Amino acid sequence: TTKTEAKEIIKTENVNLYYGERKALHGINLNFRENEITALIGPSGCGKSTYLRCLNRMNDLIPNITITGSFTLNGHNIYGPKEDTVRLRKEVGMVFQQPNPFPFSVYDNVTFGLKLAGIKDKKTLDERVEESLKQAAIWDEVKDKLHKSALSFSGGQQQRICIARLLAIQPDVILLDEPTSALDPISSQMIEDTLLNIKDRYTIIIVTHNMSQASRISDKTAFMLNGHLVEVGDTKKMFLTP
Ligand code: ADP
Ligand code: ADP
Repeated sequence: TTKTEAKEIIKTENVNLYYGERKALHGINLNFRENEITALIGPSGCGKSTYLRCLNRMNDLIPNITITGSFTLNGHNIYGPKEDTVRLRKEVGMVFQQPNPFPFSVYDNVTFGLKLAGIKDKKTLDERVEESLKQAAIWDEVKDKLHKSALSFSGGQQQRICIARLLAIQPDVILLDEPTSALDPISSQMIEDTLLNIKDRYTIIIVTHNMSQASRISDKTAFMLNGHLVEVGDTKKMFLTP
């Protein structure tokens, strides 16, 4: 029997990146499939965040940066016209190390992107809020407090609210840059469970320095060193001790 290969959503080829004169990424070739979690691991400063930020053009804001190579999302050039970056950011959402909810209610956080997209119907918004918060495994904790400020919750809860805010706009790809490093172990585990729970609908790429996290939740692991991709493969195989 032949196993059906999952679709490759993001493809990157021969990625080179310079901060000024300094080369931070060297010829990286890496693709990402839907319904898979890929962990990017490697020592601090090896270029994991730099590479991740290429995928939704977050790096565009940095002065004197040079990025070369090919980047496609569903076959479309990620580095097309600048005006396409608004759509790109909806398709490729990002979660950061520090939870960064907006300083207003949980409800307004989760509906923010939907309202920007022109969705005004109260019932639709309510449904999407409940669905997203459930997917992010935070619904039970906030359902009676939707109008409380998101900032009044714990760090772990705030991070799950941020994930719900992202899920509400239904991106294709979710980038996470050390999303649990600022959290306690129980909150970290809840985020990990959330990612496992939603991965059948998304393409997920997570930067982590936590090896047990990488081995627990990822399907693929990509190992970087000094701006190079040194190994990529099935997580189960890569973490096998000889
Ligand atoms: P990692 O995420 O693996 O810790 P980074 O991608 O943050 O690594 O950094 C890779 C290299 O690029 C490091 O040497 C870092 O100092 C450098 N770097 C990161 N961001 C910038 C920036 N905005 N300007 C200049 N150099 C940077
Ligand atoms: P091509 O490289 O195939 O010529 P274009 O950029 O011209 O692709 O876009 C073809 C169609 O796909 C257009 O309708 C455009 O709006 C749409 N499109 C382009 N980029 C994206 C994207 N990142 N996500 C979704 N649709 C896109």
